[in-house]
Amino acid sequence: MRTVLVTGGTRGIGAAIARLFKQSGYHVLSTYANNDEKAKEFSKETDIQVCKWNVANHNSYKTAQEAVSKVLGSIDILINNAGITQDALLSKMTPQMWQSVIDTNLTPLFYLCQWALPSMKQHNWGRIINISSINAFKGQKGQTNYAASKAGVIGFTKSLAQEVMQHGITVNAIAPGYTQTDMVAAVPDAIQEKIKKQIPAGAFGSAQDIAHAALYLASSEAGYITGTTIHVNGGHFMGA
Ligand code: NDP
Repeated sequence: MRTVLVTGGTRGIGAAIARLFKQSGYHVLSTYANNDEKAKEFSKETDIQVCKWNVANHNSYKTAQEAVSKVLGSIDILINNAGITQDALLSKMTPQMWQSVIDTNLTPLFYLCQWALPSMKQHNWGRIINISSINAFKGQKGQTNYAASKAGVIGFTKSLAQEVMQHGITVNAIAPGYTQTDMVAAVPDAIQEKIKKQIPAGAFGSAQDIAHAALYLASSEAGYITGTTIHVNGGHFMGA
């Protein structure tokens, strides 16, 4: 049975990905950062094991990696999904807001891929799927930190894809548009309505829309696809 690690996989998009992979016969482990209650609820409901691992705390990796390895053995499919926003205009953004977004959304890709790749290479098969964002491509006022981190994910994806394809490993990104999760629920209602009017689909996407793209990229049938980005945004932005 193929193994899957989903970071930030207890709520929102990550939870939908973990659920769909489990239903499709994969052995899945989801990580989370703080919300024990949600994680417990998710695990009980889905029978998916969870591991508290704040990926922004780069000193915690050794212990967390040991815990994950005990459950999954090696990782066949790594889904770098954990992400946060800390929005402010650049003039008001603090160094802490900048750093925490980079530490959570971008730097973990370096550590996690470096850790997961040796066993993927040994098996001559692997999938890395990185969750970027529509705002990596179109930019967004108030999100210089977030858009930079998510654009960094794209450059990382394209570069690593070239390094590991010869080992049967693909590296791809998914760029969700506005997707109905807690992250978007935090946006004021009036702004949500304004954004919906800009989306040809007339509505936000669902976490399941993203999960199905991930399931395809993880399949053996997608083995010739690497270094690319699947945009799942209801037609909101096509300039990518
Ligand atoms: P949510 O806020 O709904 O869920 C985030 C999940 O990530 C939770 O499980 C949370 O754990 C976990 N998480 C957050 N920080 C960390 C961390 N430091 N270490 C480990 N886990 C962490 O987010 P979404 O589902 O909306 O977003 C998922 C990804 O999709 C993110 O990368 C986001 O940037 C991206 N995205 C989302 C869009 C959207 O419209 N929703 C649009 C474009 C991209 P806990 O419960 O403990 O907080």
